[in-house]
Amino acid sequence: MTGADPPEHDPAHCREMFSHLSEYLDRELDEIACRQIERHLRHCDACRACCATLARTVALCQGMPPHAVPGDMAVRLREAIEKLRAGDRPAPAPHSD
Ligand SMILES: [Zn+2]
Repeated sequence: MTGADPPEHDPAHCREMFSHLSEYLDRELDEIACRQIERHLRHCDACRACCATLARTVALCQGMPPHAVPGDMAVRLREAIEKLRAGDRPAPAPHSD
């Protein structure tokens, strides 16, 4: 037992990865940031699964003709990504009038 977990397995680090996944998939990150994410993905099943799902979604959206993507879906996808980027704030409770 070394007792020294690599920092990549820190949940806070996973959140950091999540917040950059869409940028990573969009190739908006520089090479160093890409390497850090790829290194993390190699060691982290949870982030790898999330990245694969997101990559699939992005590929599906990109492969569709524009008129085939309902505007509503694009908005919801954007909201989901914004939520990931915003961190782990809980969703606001639904209003009950
Ligand atoms: Zn992770």
